[in-house]
Formats: sequence, C-alpha cells, structure tokens
Amino acid sequence: MGDIAQRYDELVARIREAAQGAGRDMHTVRLLAASKSQRVEAIGDALTAGVTLLGENYVQEAREKKRVVAKAAEWHMIGHLQRNKVQTAVELFDVIETLDSAALANALDKEGQKRGKIVRTLVEVNLAMEKSKSGVAPDRVAGLLEQVAKLPHVAVEGLMTVPPVQERPEGARRYFRTLRELADKFRGTGASNVRMAELSMGMSYDFVVAIEEGATIVRIGAALFGPRRL
Ligand SMILES: *Cc1c(COP(=O)(O)O)cnc(C)c1O
Repeated sequence: MGDIAQRYDELVARIREAAQGAGRDMHTVRLLAASKSQRVEAIGDALTAGVTLLGENYVQEAREKKRVVAKAAEWHMIGHLQRNKVQTAVELFDVIETLDSAALANALDKEGQKRGKIVRTLVEVNLAMEKSKSGVAPDRVAGLLEQVAKLPHVAVEGLMTVPPVQERPEGARRYFRTLRELADKFRGTGASNVRMAELSMGMSYDFVVAIEEGATIVRIGAALFGPRRL
C-alpha cells in the first residue's frame, strides 16, 4: 500500500474515533484533501484511496489539475477568490468555500445567472479579524447573508474558517466553537438560499478538536500528502 493510501486509512480511523467520541455519526464528517502544490499523481493516489472531495487554493492551478485528474471528485475552492477570477472559479468548482464580501456574492450571482446555475458557497469567517487573512468579520456575517438572500443564483450552505495559528490543537477549540455558534444563530432564520448545514473547519493539526466542535468538512493537507512539494 502506498504512503497516501496508508495515511488516508489512518485519517479515516481518527475521524471515526473523534466523531464517535463526540457522539456523532462519522458519516456527517467529510475529509477534504487540501491538494495545493501537490502533483497530480499524488491527487490520483488520494482519490484511489477513497478521497472524494478536493480543495484547491488557486484558480489557475485547479484548472491545470482538473484537466489531467481523470477520477471524478467534488472540487472546492478554499483560497481567497479574486473577483476577476469568478468566471473560471464558477466553471471549475462545485463549492466556493471563501465567500467573504457582498461584492463577491454579487459577482458570483451574475456568473450563476449566465450559466443558469446556482453557485454553492460557504461564508469564510475571519474570527480573530487577522489582517493577514481573508474572510468576513463575525459581526458582518449577518449583513452578507442579507445580501445573499436577494441573490437567486447564490446559495450559502454554511461557514468556513481558518483560525489563528495555535501552539496546541486545543487552542483552536474556542474558534471552532464560535463558528458553530455563529451557524446556530443563522440557522433557520435566513432566506431559502441560506442554510447552515456545513462547518468547514480543522486542518491536519487540529481536525480532531474541530470534529468535537461540530465540523462537517475537515480540510487535510500535510497529514494526507506528507510535506508539500511540487
Ligand atoms: C493548506 C490548507 C489546508 C490544509 O492545511 P494542512 O495543515 O496541510 O492540513 C486547509 N485549509 C486551507 C484553507 C488551506 O490553505
């Protein structure tokens, strides 16, 4: 068995254990393979091992990979999306996890309308309001959702976050909890195109804590692929 297949099996076991420990069904947690800068061979190995969900950070990189990755997968955009890349992003990705402004929502709506499709998104929340990170501030989520409610070709399916780097995985818990509480607050109060079904949070280092706090998508790079390289 290859390295990636072995790491995948170990990750699935840890996800199952974390879910069970939290009294959750493991099938409510999906592993997203964060494949930025990975070679297509590695992505192929991951898909063969059982991965069904890929996350890419750059539109152009995703386009090149999608051309050569033969196996079907769900593709998520997990990097910051510039408005001038919206057209290609809507074409390539099944879900944009990084919706973070009304202007971007409007642009996605326009592109969705052109293609006769509803663009699926998560709202990225910058919980600690770090200047170095994209994402909408927690107190601006409500306003963004109000705008989305007016857009027939955009749907928000949940929230996504990348918390500040922590010395220990446990340090991220309060951020994961805050994201869940935010989702709870907006669940069932929004328009028909706003749902709070998904919480995309937790990476290689801290996904166990994220699952304990309700993650439905954990974005795993290094723990699946090994150290990054191209
Ligand atoms: C790279 C990346 C990940 C995966 O990080 P690892 O620590 O390698 O698991 C998750 N989310 C985003 C947004 C990323 O850019």
